[in-house]
Amino acid sequence: MSDTFTALVLRETDDGPIGALEQLTDADLPDGDVTIDVDYSSLNYKDGMALSGKGRIVRSYPMVPGIDLTGTVVASESPDFAVGDAVISTGWSVGERYWGGYTQRQRVRSEWLVRRPDDMSALTAMAIGTAGLTAMLCVMAIEDAHVLPAEGPVLVTGAAGGVGSVAVALLSGLGFEVTAVTGRPETQEYLAGLGATAFLTREEMSEPARPLESEQWAAAVDTVGSKMLARVLAQMKYGGVVAACGLAGGADLPTTVMPFILRSVRLQGVESVVAPTPLRNRAWARLGRDLPADLIESMTEIVPLSQLLERGPSILDGQVRGRWVVDPGV
Ligand code: NDP
Repeated sequence: MSDTFTALVLRETDDGPIGALEQLTDADLPDGDVTIDVDYSSLNYKDGMALSGKGRIVRSYPMVPGIDLTGTVVASESPDFAVGDAVISTGWSVGERYWGGYTQRQRVRSEWLVRRPDDMSALTAMAIGTAGLTAMLCVMAIEDAHVLPAEGPVLVTGAAGGVGSVAVALLSGLGFEVTAVTGRPETQEYLAGLGATAFLTREEMSEPARPLESEQWAAAVDTVGSKMLARVLAQMKYGGVVAACGLAGGADLPTTVMPFILRSVRLQGVESVVAPTPLRNRAWARLGRDLPADLIESMTEIVPLSQLLERGPSILDGQVRGRWVVDPGV
């Protein structure tokens, strides 16, 4: 790596935040005890918001966005990480409050880092990223609720998105019969490749729910919220669990207490940004074991850093299929 490196920098202007690729040096990097040569970052829903200036995701400018990164330690003042270690950073407000992964080099705090599992490539780690980590935490929440594949089919909403795609692959790999909800019928073949065996449309699952509907799902991963989550709750089997992690369809929840008081349905929130490190380490180890490389490849597109400003915001319109890995080298 030369003295200068390329980073995508958002700067505040009178017309809102404007992004551009800039040449930086180590002296431009923020405080932190570990400096990393970044192999890859990724695109998540929050990154789309940061790139388009929506939702006040970015708390201060100038900002290098990118909530995920993986790379190799090139300088460390931390006893926990040495030069040459392969590391991953997701969450902890990186890319929102602190400079993130859309750069060839970054300096972060060691407490944000986990080690990349030995057998996991940098590309795979960022194909997983925050979205995949969140999907794994949802699956672990379903396991913690002791729901087994024999208890019936499971549902994944926003299935063709990042969290949804990884959730479909993980749940089907664990032997669950997975029904996928998608607003993009053209993604059904892709989702079938990840292991989905049945499909519902976004439209039918966005219809206002009756307080209780016929019992269908033993468990569900919901990335959408709002009317869709209300409908999922109304369709849960007795004792079923919904792992709710997203709001792609809205932050409201127009439901009743009926699924909870008449069917013992459990609604488990899932959060990955400040999830404690031991839980993250468990989740990354599981991802390394449970997610076959060919499935990850089939859900991943590599996007050069230079195209992100133009293409990244499309994730907000539900236009990104699976996961985009960001290559800072071009
Ligand atoms: P994506 O955009 O990749 O996936 C979201 C998917 O939701 C889309 O692909 C689309 O799937 C569906 N969708 C989009 N808009 C709507 C809508 N208006 N109504 C119904 N469905 C819609 O995002 P991610 O997978 O990265 O994130 C998914 C959600 O999870 C986001 O809300 C994000 O903020 C949240 N999240 C939460 C985390 C946490 O820690 N709790 C961490 C990571 C993400 P399809 O085309 O198949 O219909």
